[in-house]
Amino acid sequence: MKNIAILGSTGSIGVSTLDIVSSHPDRFRIIALTAGKNLDLFATQIKKFTPRIAAVASPDDIPRLRELCHGVDVIITGGVEGLVAAATADESDMVVAAIVGAAGLVPTAAAIRAGKDIALANKEILVTAGHLFMELVAAAGVRLFPVDSEHSAIFQSMEGHRSEDIQRIILTASGGPFLNTPADSLGAVTVADALNHPNWAMGKKISIDSATMMNKGLEVIEAHWLFNTPVDKIQVNIHPQSIIHSMVEYIDGSVIAQLGSPDMKAPIAYALAYPERITTGVKPLDLTTMSGLTFHNPDCEKFPCLQLAYRAMTDGESMPAVMNAANEIAVAEFLAGTCSFTRIAEIIERTMDAHVPHPLGSIEEVLDADRWGRETAREICREMVY
Ligand code: NAD
Ligand code: MG
Repeated sequence: MKNIAILGSTGSIGVSTLDIVSSHPDRFRIIALTAGKNLDLFATQIKKFTPRIAAVASPDDIPRLRELCHGVDVIITGGVEGLVAAATADESDMVVAAIVGAAGLVPTAAAIRAGKDIALANKEILVTAGHLFMELVAAAGVRLFPVDSEHSAIFQSMEGHRSEDIQRIILTASGGPFLNTPADSLGAVTVADALNHPNWAMGKKISIDSATMMNKGLEVIEAHWLFNTPVDKIQVNIHPQSIIHSMVEYIDGSVIAQLGSPDMKAPIAYALAYPERITTGVKPLDLTTMSGLTFHNPDCEKFPCLQLAYRAMTDGESMPAVMNAANEIAVAEFLAGTCSFTRIAEIIERTMDAHVPHPLGSIEEVLDADRWGRETAREICREMVY
């Protein structure tokens, strides 16, 4: 029996993780859950999975959650200390990091320090503080399993191989909903258009990141830290069918890929049950019904966010954290209807232009850089006309 805590259980990854847990009650038990705002769904999950501890992001929501969970034997807590208590609960073996954004930094760092293995969906953690997290993981002697489908594919394609034999990583990208939209129409796209991802059903923030292709930029940085691979050996290929989830090329010219229907339950299950494979209900792949698998280079002029991520890595130090913060603000502004789609990249670029990178020696310093990036991006956004 593996005891699991989920940070962000009401999100897209959290719900898929609970689906897998409920189909394998003999393997997994839920010890702790955390959530942000969706208290009704959270209460339903608490009643069904009866964790020992449940934490809600805002302490103001604790009374309401206690009311909703009246009669259930669970410790209900909240705020950052509550999230940390859930992330470090004694009995858990593995923590699924599925909070969105830099908000996941503190509880996930606490989980690692407490010796928990991590199933990592929350890529912003590695983008903002990759060097610190990889150091924490090594110092604590825990394992970090990628949940992101591309990184799970890379991880699987590296199993049994020597890292020195790797030539390059080929990260696939669907291209998002605007792959075939003319560049001069992007300024007028709506939030609904941007959320309408062709292949994956995901949370709102990552759906917008996929539409701008910032998601792929974040994933290049994530792959750099997870697989200790220089960024110039990580190449992005647009593969609109999302069947090959990524590939690893070796020095002998062999390319190893992982394929499957686009469903996050597969990479989540691999992270939860590693090294075993368990059933997921993911639709079997029938390649004979597919008209073709295609690949091409990304259009970096039309999608400048991908280039911004490479630039952030070249600048290094605090720049990726600032870029990530500016992206979180710009995406929130777009979702709120206060800036246009093409402004997202502009806000990020102008925030980065205003930043002088400096070394980050602790999570607290990462949070300072994150705050600076958010404030600067908000100011830039206020000065802009829609
Ligand atoms: P989501 O928005 O659906 O869910 C996010 C979860 O985090 C929710 O439970 C929410 O309540 C919680 N949360 C949000 N803000 C919080 C805060 N400030 N403090 C505490 N909790 C907070 O997001 P998602 O799509 O499930 O994505 C989660 C993470 O996984 C992201 O980092 C995303 O990039 C990554 N990821 C998601 C997918 C996917 O298919 N959804 C695929 C790969 C990677
Ligand atoms: Mg991905």
